[in-house]
Amino acid sequence: MGQVRPFAGAPAAGEPMVRIRGLTKSYHGKPVLQDIDLDVAAGSVMCIIGPSGSGKSTLLACINHLERIDGGRLWVGGELVGYREQGGKLHELPERQIARMRQRIGMVFQHFNLFPHMTALQNIMEAPVQVLRLPPEQARARAMQLLDRVGLAGKHGRHPAQLSGGEQQRVAIARALAMEPRLMLFDEPTSALDPELVGEVLAVMKDLARSGMTMVVVTHELAFAREVGDALTFMDGGRVVERGAPRAVLADPREARTREFLSRVL
Ligand code: ADP
Ligand code: MG
Repeated sequence: MGQVRPFAGAPAAGEPMVRIRGLTKSYHGKPVLQDIDLDVAAGSVMCIIGPSGSGKSTLLACINHLERIDGGRLWVGGELVGYREQGGKLHELPERQIARMRQRIGMVFQHFNLFPHMTALQNIMEAPVQVLRLPPEQARARAMQLLDRVGLAGKHGRHPAQLSGGEQQRVAIARALAMEPRLMLFDEPTSALDPELVGEVLAVMKDLARSGMTMVVVTHELAFAREVGDALTFMDGGRVVERGAPRAVLADPREARTREFLSRVL
């Protein structure tokens, strides 16, 4: 049996954490991602905006290898995860290495997806104990630290139904962090929240960004993108239409489609 290399997770100096070249993806013959090129520098925050159906979630799913790419090349943490020349065979890391890599990618969804029958603490401990085989006492101590970090130290014994949406999402972030990810993917993490709860989740994300975490954030929160994002990508129709420094793209978009989108959401 082949030796499983641990996911180094740290690209060589100067290499981006995520590199995508010419990525294409179709569902049932309908292209949803076309010729995507994207780099996410290690330690940076990439924000992705774009209308519904533009392929943002599919792109995150490809980065996390929840979805297979149809063409192009994808590197994560300096490793070539998969590539396929047009019409050719898909080459990818062996399944165990992909599983290993995915352990080091945290994902936070719009709908928090906590285990409803577990407390906040149990939600956070679950994967470290079951997947990483951490001793429960160690996992518990780490989970308590993470709950403290997201401002929920006092609520470790609550079940999801006993927490607000903002609190549930902060538990979901803590749960992802418990696996010590090298990369965090956020798919509209505040879109399901009441407006007054959005700020507390964005504050946790901002804190995480400040700590040096590499993050890809699909969001409609343009103020967050402007303040916290190092780069901004605008997608439409399965393509990257425009990218650049968030302030530049938001204040003075080059492309008509970006201007039109921003005029609708601002
Ligand atoms: P966004 O996140 O920007 O709203 P998505 O990535 O969810 O966009 O979807 C892009 C396109 O792909 C949409 O047309 C959507 O209907 C389609 N799509 C997404 N997931 C699937 C799937 N599992 N099967 C078929 N079509 C899908
Ligand atoms: Mg989506």
